[in-house]
Amino acid sequence: MAGLVDLHAHTVVSDGTVAPAQLVRLAKAKGLVALAVTDHDHVGGIEEAMEEGRRIGVEVVPGIELSVEDPECGELHVLGYLFDPEDPALLNKLELLRNARLSRGARIVERLRQHGLDVTLQDVAREARSDEGASLGRPHVARVLMAKGYVASVQEAFDKWLGEGRRGYVPKDRLAPQDALLLVHNAGGVAVLAHAVTVDASKRAALVRKLAAMGLDGVEVQHSKHGEAERRELQALADELGLVATGGSDFHGENKPGVELGTGREGNVRTTREVLDALKTRAAKRRSPTARGS
Ligand code: AMP
Ligand code: FE
Ligand code: FE
Ligand code: ZN
Repeated sequence: MAGLVDLHAHTVVSDGTVAPAQLVRLAKAKGLVALAVTDHDHVGGIEEAMEEGRRIGVEVVPGIELSVEDPECGELHVLGYLFDPEDPALLNKLELLRNARLSRGARIVERLRQHGLDVTLQDVAREARSDEGASLGRPHVARVLMAKGYVASVQEAFDKWLGEGRRGYVPKDRLAPQDALLLVHNAGGVAVLAHAVTVDASKRAALVRKLAAMGLDGVEVQHSKHGEAERRELQALADELGLVATGGSDFHGENKPGVELGTGREGNVRTTREVLDALKTRAAKRRSPTARGS
């Protein structure tokens, strides 16, 4: 019997609504044997989660989700795993990215105010726990719009105001693909392309091949947003290119209603311990002095 794991989940350190220790308890309650905490641009939830994991018997592995700007495909997300969460170059870069998120938050608020919405940066910063150094994202703005009665759900806030092309949309600073991979690899980890369903289907295969040539280690095949077609395509690409086929729910608590830790949306995600083992093997190979390439 394979133990189940979840390799993609967010906490209050970024745009999830559950505290790191609470997330681990939830994983335990769901019967998961391992969990990766993958907050946007932040490793600040990992230590608390690992501690709770040791206490109650869930393996917690370091994770991160980075936003990447690809010249052909636009915004992509790259997941990093099994790196050193104290790596100075990584911490440095993450702090810069979070600072850029703060100024972008201010620009979003400014736009919303220009359209007559009564929101302040203070409201958003409070929602995002900015004073504690958490990573500010659009879901925090969405929750403020909800609290003020402008929209009924986070989804509606994205559809009406915050999604790409909407009146409150402001792009954020993103890494180049190669820089994201290097950041993770240089910190001793492995890099996985997240939820490639968001990439234009006609460009997906070429993108995965290009990233694989840059040193990508895996692709997320199981994801709460993936349909059968994406799963089949990504699994075939993983097989062809020798990438690890990973999986995770992308749990965000109340910010993504209907997506459950471990199992995704209506049970559409299932990831076994063997996947984590494959990532560990790959990370160990990368770290060994005889390893070749980036
Ligand atoms: P940001 O990193 O600030 O650009 O915000 C992106 C985050 O917002 C994603 O990681 C998701 O958690 C969430 N998100 C993006 N698009 C939507 C959407 N259409 N509906 C709800 N949440 C979304
Ligand atoms: Fe998110
Ligand atoms: Fe993502
Ligand atoms: Zn995510």
